[in-house]
Order: sequence, then structure tokens, then C-alpha cells
Amino acid sequence: MNDQKQDLSEILKKKVFFFDLDGTIYLGDTLFDGVIQLIDILERKNKHFYFLSNNSSKSTSDYIRKLLNLNLNITRDNIILSQHPTIDFLKKNDYERIFLLGTQSLKKEFLKEGFILTEENPEIIVLAFDQELTYERLVNASYLLQNQIPYIATHLDDRCPTEEGYIPDAGGIAALLYKATGRMPEVFGKPNKQMLLFKLHELEISPKDAIMFGDRLYTDIKMGIEAGVTTCCVLSGEITMEMINKSKDSKPDFIIDGIWEIYELLKQL
Ligand SMILES: [Mg+2]
Repeated sequence: MNDQKQDLSEILKKKVFFFDLDGTIYLGDTLFDGVIQLIDILERKNKHFYFLSNNSSKSTSDYIRKLLNLNLNITRDNIILSQHPTIDFLKKNDYERIFLLGTQSLKKEFLKEGFILTEENPEIIVLAFDQELTYERLVNASYLLQNQIPYIATHLDDRCPTEEGYIPDAGGIAALLYKATGRMPEVFGKPNKQMLLFKLHELEISPKDAIMFGDRLYTDIKMGIEAGVTTCCVLSGEITMEMINKSKDSKPDFIIDGIWEIYELLKQL
């Protein structure tokens, strides 16, 4: 519980609202109070809003479906996944032949974007949350990494929470490849500020007119601070007030119990 008195009115002036998903907008399959109404206000007031996730095991279409099931009717344009800044980088740098360590669902998304997915003479290795990883794929990646092929990752979360416990995420897979090859990838998802800046650049809106909401200091809040946007930590997910006080990570501009407080605030608009 956050008992500090804060003046949240600065938030009313923001033009762009970035929201982390898990722990911020929903927990598992339960949407937090006020989210549907909040989105409704943002739409009516012509604010830009985006939902962010590092989880690249799912495609953009999978996410739209998941949000629809939670009664959040939003479009592809409102979602930023870690594969988006990654794809943006690949296109800007003219990469075509890609060795993707990723799920079938993610592969489909890359194919739709026009990339050639291959383990034969690729130009770059892209590591994602590959839940269909095989030892053979790791072996092929290891050989290529030792031949100095460029190497990037959608994100590097070490582990992913599930109902039964943690499972290895992209960072876990990267750690395994690091043991064999001594190489770590460049990362595009959270906490890389590019996840926010590539979108702000597209919109031609300054970071100071944007705000990032999230429940993790070392990804959501760190990224927001580095991108130069205002940051707001929610206590509805992973982090507690005690953890924030003890943490050596940079502190957010605002701390709230949950996203419902922003709905109550934006009602004034
Ligand atoms: Mg979260």
C-alpha cells in the first residue's frame, strides 16, 4: 500500500500512455478494475495508448485475441511486443535471411513481414522466447555464433512466471548459449529504451509528453527513465512498497496501488 501524497495532475497532460500488461493491466486472466473505462476515456480524448510485453513467444495476433477474451477491444496498433522494435531494427539494417530461435507463432509473424527464415547461411541470429527449442537448434546457433554472426534478442528476461512456477525465458536460453560461445546478444525489448522511442519517433511526440506504467523497476521503470518519459510504478503486480524502498534501481516519478487510480484521475478530463 502506498500512503504517500502525490500530485498526479501532471499525468492529465500526457499525450502518450504506455502500459505494461501482466501485473499492470491484468493478473493472469483477470483484468484490473477500471481498465475498460480507462481505455474508453483515452480513446475519447484522442490520447495515444499502447500495451507492452516482452513475451515474444506470442505473435501480435495472439495478444489481440487474449485481450479480446478479457473484453479489451483494441487494434494491432495499440500493442508493442519486443519483436516490434526488433523487426524495426532488422528492416532498417536490410537483414533478410534470419535464423530465428522462436515459436511457430512468432515465425509466422516474421514471414508475414517478408523475412526469409533459415538456418543455412543466415545473416543474423534472432533469439526470442523459443518455447519449441530443440538441442539441434542450439547446436546450429552455437556453430554460427562462433563464426561471429551478428546476434540480437527480442528481450532477455531470465525466467517467465507460470501458474506452476518459473520456466526459462529468452534470457535463460541466452545464458545457455553464452556458456558455449561466450557471446551475449544485443537486446531490443524492455528495458531497452528503443521499445518506447521507436514508437515516439513514429508519432513525432517528445518523450516528456509520455508516461510509462509498470510493475517492475528493472524493466518497465528503468526503460521509461532511460527513454526520458515520466514513470509510474503500480503495486498490483510483482513489486511491493518495501521492495521499492530497498531497491538500488532508479525510482519512479509516481507510485500508485493500481491502474484504477488513473481511471479515477482521468475521469476529470
Ligand atoms: Mg509486468
